[in-house]
Amino acid sequence: MINAYAGIAPRSDLLLLQRLGQRLEGRSFLHINSTSKGGGVAEILHRMLPILRSLGVRTRWEVLEGDDPFFDMTKKLHNALQGSAETFTEAMWEHHREINERNAAALDLEADAVLIHDPQPMPLVEHRGGGKWIWRCHIDLANPHPGVFERLAGYAARYDAAVFSVSKFARHMPMPEFIITPSIDPLSEKNIPLPDEEVRAVLERLGIPPDRPMILQVSRFDRFKDPIGVIGAFRMVRRYNDCCLVLAGSPATDDPEGAAVLEEVQEAAAGDPDIHIRLLPPFSDREINALQRAAAVVLQKSLKEGFGLTVAEALWKGKPVIGGAVGGIPLQIVHGATGYLVHSVEGTAFRIRQLLNDPEAARRVGEAGREFVRRHFLITRQARDYLAIWHSLEHPGEAILEV
Ligand code: UDP
Repeated sequence: MINAYAGIAPRSDLLLLQRLGQRLEGRSFLHINSTSKGGGVAEILHRMLPILRSLGVRTRWEVLEGDDPFFDMTKKLHNALQGSAETFTEAMWEHHREINERNAAALDLEADAVLIHDPQPMPLVEHRGGGKWIWRCHIDLANPHPGVFERLAGYAARYDAAVFSVSKFARHMPMPEFIITPSIDPLSEKNIPLPDEEVRAVLERLGIPPDRPMILQVSRFDRFKDPIGVIGAFRMVRRYNDCCLVLAGSPATDDPEGAAVLEEVQEAAAGDPDIHIRLLPPFSDREINALQRAAAVVLQKSLKEGFGLTVAEALWKGKPVIGGAVGGIPLQIVHGATGYLVHSVEGTAFRIRQLLNDPEAARRVGEAGREFVRRHFLITRQARDYLAIWHSLEHPGEAILEV
């Protein structure tokens, strides 16, 4: 399995991964989150489990079972931890704890290392055994709504370590903290090389002209992804450059504003035959792959962002990417080297034109972006980091590789 990444992922990552695998072979590693499909956490786990197992680490993945009130509460909790004003009753906190108690009774929580993903299963730590318990937080905890994190602090204190995705999302915790950025799998359907015929067939099926420079943004229809700003930038560019715009994504189903945003976008694009809005059904990985490969310039003009996986996906395909300077995007786009960071609609239009008018520079930026992703944002690096944290908690201060 690891061999499949040889020649793709950095050799040093693979070597370290193998060494860690030798150290941890036969030991047990348990991941727990709250959904088996949908969302980046589940996607990465699906891809990472076979890698860890192939190293001989006995890896399991359990999914928390909850009812509607539980998931309503944890959705609010997610928003409140990221700063939105939400109110919680004592009964809601009690239900959060209660569902976790029930799951603790049903699940086998014994493992040498347990990685708990996000706040939903956080209270399981009350039932911890003697292995290392690590809390993996994928959201931005820097400025939670006042009083909310405090309700989780008792659980947090029982973990051996906390892991955040981006340092600016972290907060002070009473135990060791680590930063592990998310990653993409170069061998997944979304990222593997595709034959040109398949790319063309996808364009044809989606009714997108194959012969014009395409500006692309792949995103949920969410205000924070600024689709209206993207249309504004495209209209400025198109006064001077021949090109078309593709906005591909799904309506954000868990967001009550999702439908309204999509309507606004459709209205903003109305009557313009060069703007193609395409709703993608779930599991459109190969279509997204093809669109990213067909694009001349990829945008992720977010106003607020988590890590921004679409940026790594497009950079991996050697595309020049223009992204909002928010969340994890600046970690991936080194301004002027692996892409461009923007702060306005005008700035976005300026950078799109610059890239369309100088294809050689666009190629150079895309190539540098691909190499940057290869070094820092492939799944083998993330698997390496998980094992390294586990190992370091068991053997503080001990080197894994002798140099
Ligand atoms: N994506 C998808 N279908 C869509 C829109 C997005 O599969 O209609 C994928 C996209 O390729 C990426 C992920 O969903 O892998 C979005 O992650 P990102 O971090 O960019 O943004 P989020 O949606 O988590 O805010």
